[in-house]
Amino acid sequence: MYDVLVVGGGIAGTSIGHELAARGRAVCVLEAEPELARHTTGRSAATWIGGYGPPEVRRLTLASRAFLDDPPIDVAGPLLTPLPCLYVGGPDAAPDAAAGVLGVAVAPAEAEQLNPLLRPGWTSVAVLDDTACELDVAGLHQGYVRALRAAGGEVRLRARVVGATRAAGSWRLSLASGDVLAAPVVVVAAGAWGDEVGRLLGSAGVGLEPRRRTIFGSPAVVPLTGMPFTCAIDGGWYVKAEGGLALCSPEDAEPHAPGDPRPDELEIARTIEAVNEATVLGLRSVRTAWAGLRTFAPGGEPVARYDDDVEGLFWFVGQAGYGIQMAPALAREAAQRLAEV
Ligand SMILES: Cc1cc2nc3c(=O)[nH]c(=O)nc-3n(C[C@H](O)[C@H](O)[C@H](O)COP(=O)(O)OP(=O)(O)OC[C@H]3O[C@@H](n4cnc5c(N)ncnc54)[C@H](O)[C@@H]3O)c2cc1C
Repeated sequence: MYDVLVVGGGIAGTSIGHELAARGRAVCVLEAEPELARHTTGRSAATWIGGYGPPEVRRLTLASRAFLDDPPIDVAGPLLTPLPCLYVGGPDAAPDAAAGVLGVAVAPAEAEQLNPLLRPGWTSVAVLDDTACELDVAGLHQGYVRALRAAGGEVRLRARVVGATRAAGSWRLSLASGDVLAAPVVVVAAGAWGDEVGRLLGSAGVGLEPRRRTIFGSPAVVPLTGMPFTCAIDGGWYVKAEGGLALCSPEDAEPHAPGDPRPDELEIARTIEAVNEATVLGLRSVRTAWAGLRTFAPGGEPVARYDDDVEGLFWFVGQAGYGIQMAPALAREAAQRLAEV
């Protein structure tokens, strides 16, 4: 018997699990896979960008900064490393392309100094966000798991939830292994599978939409040292240096059923062309590629609340493309909300 069962062992489940355990709740995080962070959490671009996403996401991202700068939990090293974000548009960029992009407008010549790998003369508009950072996702996730365990919480692997019943104010969750665990409150933090898990508990779901995003790594013909995170100002691609490769994304957002998406080869080919047009990276081949699901709730902002109709079901879903960078504030606020009832 626990106080709270959390379904999902990605950043969402472990961050709220930690916050609840730290408040003295008996918590168990249930992860279907044999290891944590196999799905979206292990597939991100690992960036912190304060101006990214809708207003509530930006508020949560900024409110998470102090935690990430000076973590109150035991982590192996710094979680943030400065990595300026440069938004650029080429000759075809719309005249108002910079409208709504948060940062400081910079002249094309200055953009070429900030990223000397931009093709000379290509840039027509640029915006710099020099507060952006590289984010150690594994460091944060493992820190949460460590803190959760240190506070007496548990994490169970190979613990796929396959059924649920409620009686006398308590849930009984059945696992694929045949085990049954009980608690008055269940947190659904199952990412792309959120609605599926919610339906096991008798909810109609919140209308989640998982969307595929592809990332690939390609060798460049020039050294990438010091290159800022560089994004097409009107969307369509971004590129950052990682492990000696140019790590690129087409910024695709194709609806996809919960599962293990494959990278989109056509999108990869299109992105190589676009990045080569904008820069002198000279990308030719693909060394590594993966895809993950960014899961959106209606309205695009995360859902952290009790279900309107089903007693003891707390939703913690819809982290979309910002679930790591806003995790500290989102988990803290969600745990407070959960505990108020
Ligand atoms: C390509 C890409 C780039 C991204 N870049 C960034 C970035 O730079 N910065 C940022 O902040 N965010 C980024 N994101 C978004 C971020 O990765 C997600 O918002 C976040 O990882 C979502 O975490 P989660 O815990 O909700 O989901 P997940 O990590 O998918 O975790 C859900 C877990 O639930 C488990 N589960 C499902 N069903 C069950 C069940 N029945 N029983 C038990 N367990 C179950 C799954 O196995 C899974 O491990 C990116 C995402 C992608 C795909």
